[in-house]
Amino acid sequence: MSLIPKPNSALLIVGHGSTENPDSSTPYFDHADEIRRKNLFAEVHVCFWKEEPSLREALLMIDAPEVYIVPDFISEGYFTQEVIPRELGLSGDTTIRDGKTLHYCLPVGVHRSMTDLILRRAREVAPDADPNDTTLIITGHGTGLNQNSTKAIKDQAELIAKSGAGYKCVTDAYMEEAPFIAEWDKMSETTNVVIVPFFISDGLHSYQDIPVLLGIEPEVGPAASQREVFRQNPHHLREKTLYYSSAIGTEPLIADVILDQILDFDAKYAPQSPEPNSNPKLADHLTKLVRDGVNQIGQIRIHRHYCEFEYALYHIEDEDLATQPAFGGLDHYHGPEMSRDLSTYAEDGEYRFTKGKINLRRGWIITLDNEHDLLRSLDQFYPACSALFIKYQDGTLPIENLRDKLSRQTGMYRYAGTISDAGAQKLIQKVCGPAHNCAKKILWKLDANTHLDDSEASRFNGVPYNTPENLAIPLLCREACNHFVAECRKAAKREFDSAQAS
Ligand code: SF4
Repeated sequence: MSLIPKPNSALLIVGHGSTENPDSSTPYFDHADEIRRKNLFAEVHVCFWKEEPSLREALLMIDAPEVYIVPDFISEGYFTQEVIPRELGLSGDTTIRDGKTLHYCLPVGVHRSMTDLILRRAREVAPDADPNDTTLIITGHGTGLNQNSTKAIKDQAELIAKSGAGYKCVTDAYMEEAPFIAEWDKMSETTNVVIVPFFISDGLHSYQDIPVLLGIEPEVGPAASQREVFRQNPHHLREKTLYYSSAIGTEPLIADVILDQILDFDAKYAPQSPEPNSNPKLADHLTKLVRDGVNQIGQIRIHRHYCEFEYALYHIEDEDLATQPAFGGLDHYHGPEMSRDLSTYAEDGEYRFTKGKINLRRGWIITLDNEHDLLRSLDQFYPACSALFIKYQDGTLPIENLRDKLSRQTGMYRYAGTISDAGAQKLIQKVCGPAHNCAKKILWKLDANTHLDDSEASRFNGVPYNTPENLAIPLLCREACNHFVAECRKAAKREFDSAQAS
């Protein structure tokens, strides 16, 4: 059975994201693009715990009155059961808040169709390996922190062993607990070994760490999108023939699993179809802003009625080229699809995980047909920023002070909350503002009663290039970014060390 179109609903795919590895979020965007092409939802969005847009900002980007939220996570656990519900204000399977009905589906990794995807991936990576002489190993992180992720992998190994797929041996193995993936060659007698990483993306673990544990790579290499590790199969190592696949979450059919989770949700809860939302849409607001003369956001020029196109976007410093015949030699892309690629790396190759950074690469022009594509494209360059400004203008933008943001951190970032007020004030002047390449206007305070000290960073209006404010959409910082949180953690540690030393 396939999902019937939901023209008054939005889909929100939730991922973890990474401050270090640009490949981590790629599968989420790919799955969103794939689902968008099917025209099943009025809107399809992605949001992240560690990247932009944040979970809290994502809901502000959505016009639709009904939202299906699908965690693109491998298992149920701390993130799906605590962090996501808390960040999105969910109180159960269905939550009604701020005029929206939010349906919370199960994570993709626990859907029964994952078994078929693992088998498919194993066959693709080792098409010639005789299953009778092959061991299939499903591997994950493994840690006492999340027993559920280990359970999900064990369950899959058992299901495949019973599926009649014919593998001589099917087993599970982990990076950080027994059975250890580093000992893959000792797990069975077969000549061939196929290893499928049970991760959502080819991030640090499946691309960088596990190849070293397997012996494919001598040391942890840089994050790379070209996936050489996966192209070089088979590897002849330790007297075996090893086939190593990319993470199961990169499988394009995960897009179907996301839809399957929604189908299952509907079958279980039978939610009523929502009435269409008659409020003006964000794209309409954006159109009005541009018609009224707004022509800039961050480092981007928004050019209305450009040649035969409704809109064009280009780097402000390329204005002279963009207005010459044949776009002055700039790379021309039509449609919003390339926006994410263009915004991911700076000219020098630096990963721009903080999108407000003033280092957007030059040399391109994007032409667009309508206001929906304009909004989508701008959301890739400056996630949620158009929506935040529109909410800010009408006085409905929720702002989160630093102490609240720090109190929500998990894992090693919990320590960031111990930073002193004086330390946080100093850090703002060291990290934020145009002097430190951030183009955002800070809206938050340290806490309800503690304003930011006066500085260039606290005064900056979110509009680079000294453009008059009425001609630009300012970039707004309604909560401290993950880069700032990471810096708080380091500063808190320095404070602790110096208190110990004195
Ligand atoms: S916290 Fe500071 S560095 Fe981070 S986005 Fe906001 S203003 Fe920029």
